[in-house]
Order: sequence, then structure tokens, then C-alpha cells
Amino acid sequence: LLPIALHQFIYRVQTPTALPTFLLIGPSGSGKTAFLTLAERRAAAQTHTSTAPLSIEALLPDGYVPNSAHYRSPGDPAYERARRLLLLDTPGHGKLRHFATAQLVNPTHVRGIIFVVDAASVADEAGLDETAEYLHDMLLALQKRYTGAKTSKGPKEIPVLIAANKLDLFTALPPHLVKISLEKAISEVRKSRAKGVKDSGVAMGGEEDAVDEENEWLGEGGEGAFEFRQMEEVGTSVAVQGGNVLGGEGSDVKSWWEWVAEQL
Ligand code: GDP
Repeated sequence: LLPIALHQFIYRVQTPTALPTFLLIGPSGSGKTAFLTLAERRAAAQTHTSTAPLSIEALLPDGYVPNSAHYRSPGDPAYERARRLLLLDTPGHGKLRHFATAQLVNPTHVRGIIFVVDAASVADEAGLDETAEYLHDMLLALQKRYTGAKTSKGPKEIPVLIAANKLDLFTALPPHLVKISLEKAISEVRKSRAKGVKDSGVAMGGEEDAVDEENEWLGEGGEGAFEFRQMEEVGTSVAVQGGNVLGGEGSDVKSWWEWVAEQL
């Protein structure tokens, strides 16, 4: 019996994917690695670095209460267990499609997605467009996962935090403007993508064009602009919270940890 019990124990300890997992996504240079490093440093001694370079096991820092353990006290084993999480970094330059099939289509342990934005870079058009395209594609992947689900219950909800980073920079947009700018830019991405689908549909003359057009349209149909709250219809709430991982005055990522705590 003992070897079996031991085996199960080791299996549990060594399988970090069983922990609630948060994906770090976003354009290259937005601060994902910096946040990962910070989370690793702040975590208590029992944290271990996994052998995979892009994922770390972290602890919710002191002072944040996991949502599932509100009525328990720090030190209680169940409370301490609820603080454990896995942060999974995804390379910003990688094409989303590879990632989407690997992580979003089968996100067994994905508890949430942290989309890191450089709030200074979205102040200019090129940075904004790049970020909006990335975010559009990620949200569309989540929407497809929801609408394509075979079960009647619908798949598990996956909330998204848009972490507006680098607020220490004076060129950074404040979080509410990051939100508005991204919604506007995503409306444009949506329009140009729809045109692309339509044009290729006309060229192909296939019968499934209408279905395709509908599937590729993010959020509500019609003439209105895209808004993040439209994602609630497809099981994804979107929150925008500002912070800075680095900066002269030290880091401030309180609102991000608060969001993480709510999901745990
Ligand atoms: P990644 O490509 O998303 O992993 O981005 P990195 O974590 O490598 O960060 C890209 C650059 O932005 C690095 O030079 C970081 O030092 C810098 N950076 C990250 N977070 C902040 C921040 O909050 N404020 C400032 N000023 N710079 C930051």
C-alpha cells in the first residue's frame, strides 16, 4: 500500500497543472516576465520553481483572501491550500492561434487570464492596434470556446483581467482610458476582420459563409461599438485594473492580486 500512497503523494506534489492556473498573455514587452518574477519573489518559502521555464507556482501574497476561503483563517490548512496558484507565461510574439488551441480549447485548470498591457505603448496608434488585435483574437477564441461547447450547461467561465501596466510612466494612459481606447480599437479590428471574412467568402462562393461571418464576429451583432461587457454573454467577465510591476516608487500590483484573490 505504501508505495501507492507515496506515488499518489508525489504525483500530487509534482503536478502543478492541478493548481488553479492563470495565463499571462499580452504583447511582447508589456511586462509579463517582470510580473512573473515579482510573483515568484513575493511568494513564501514553500514556493518552488517548476522545471518548465515559463510557469511558476506562486502563493497569493499575505493580506489577500482567496474567495473560497473567506470564512477560514490564515494558517488553516484549507486556507493555505487555497492560496496556491500557477502562473503560466506565454510568449508575446508567438501567434495566438498556437496558444489558443493548446490552452483555451482545453483549459481544464485555467481559472483566469491576465492580459498584460503596456499602458504607455497603447497611447500611440501602433501600440494600440497591436494590443487590440491580440486582445480581439484572444477574446474571440474564448467566445468560440463558449458558443462551440457541446454541453447544455455551457463551459466553465473564464474571467479576464486587463492589467494596465507601467502606470509609473508619465506617458501611460490611466486605466479608464486604456479601457475605452481598447474597446474602440477592437471595434475597428472587428470591422476589418469581418470584411476579410466576407471578401474571402465571396471569392470562395461557399455555402457556409453566413455561418462563418457570425462565428468570427466578436461580441454583440449590429451596428454598435464593441464593449467588454458584451463578453459576459459568453461566460467571460472583463475587468481593467491599473498597476506597475516596476518603477522608481516600487511596484504596485495590489488591484491585480485582489482580482486573482476573487477567482481563487
Ligand atoms: P514581456 O515581454 O511581456 O515579458 O515584458 P518584460 O517583463 O520583459 O518587460 C518589458 C520591459 O518593460 C522591461 O524592460 C521591463 O523592465 C519593463 N517594465 C515592465 N514592467 C514595468 C513597469 O511597471 N514600469 C516600467 N517603467 N517598466 C516596466
